[in-house]
Amino acid sequence: MYFDILTLFPNMFSGPFSDSIIARAQKKELIEINLIDFREYAYDKHNTADDYPYGGGAGMVLKVEPIYRAYKEIVEKRGDSPPTILLSPQGKTLNQNLVKKYSQQEGVILICGHYEGIDDRIRDMIVTEEISIGDYVLTGGELPAMVFVEAVSRMLPGVLGDEDSPQQDSFYNGMLDFPQYTRPREYKGQKVPDILLSGHHQKVDKWRKKMALKRTLLRRPDLLMKKELSSSEKKLLAEIKQEIVRQENG
Ligand code: SAH
Repeated sequence: MYFDILTLFPNMFSGPFSDSIIARAQKKELIEINLIDFREYAYDKHNTADDYPYGGGAGMVLKVEPIYRAYKEIVEKRGDSPPTILLSPQGKTLNQNLVKKYSQQEGVILICGHYEGIDDRIRDMIVTEEISIGDYVLTGGELPAMVFVEAVSRMLPGVLGDEDSPQQDSFYNGMLDFPQYTRPREYKGQKVPDILLSGHHQKVDKWRKKMALKRTLLRRPDLLMKKELSSSEKKLLAEIKQEIVRQENG
């Protein structure tokens, strides 16, 4: 999958993209990340990419032409117009379903705003969806674009070492993940749950399922409300609720 990223600050990406899983995925050619500095598409000799807002007020606004021209060049090169995402605090909040949806695409264009944002005409002319990474405001769309690339990439086959890993992660199945432990068995009096050392796979699986349900119930009941539970999950959930009531009473 390719990510064509339009940004005024391509250097910001070098750290997060040159280590660990994203670096390996690029090396294995599972993903391709192209950083396009749209300042280079400005008309004037000073490469002006931003300007004062019409109507006055503080800050600078990213100009329409450089972004549009950079976009056009990508579309010509690619031979079609991929989904074009504007990172924006006004967009739809990114979640695992959106991540899954985009991981099925051949590629996307990501537009990073900066300063006060972009000339709004860009939204109407080329943007197919606006995505926010949460209800807070950052200085630029670069970090949100990195978050998007990282979340989508780890869904692609072969990107994680273990093919099953994303399926088990939090949110994938509308639930939070179960707790994990590794050696030592005991640390400062804190023990790993016995069942994980039992070697009994079925019991371990059931325990994990139960813990995932319990965590989701206690931390994110909103997720459970949306989820269609299987009959075994319903049974486990009833058990959990009984245990909680018993604990509260005793
Ligand atoms: N004045 C704008 C915010 C500008 S912040 C407004 O209130 O809508 C500058 C840029 O940072 C934005 O154009 C966007 O690309 C990026 N950005 C800031 N917060 C973001 C968030 N929560 N999610 C995604 N992008 C964000």
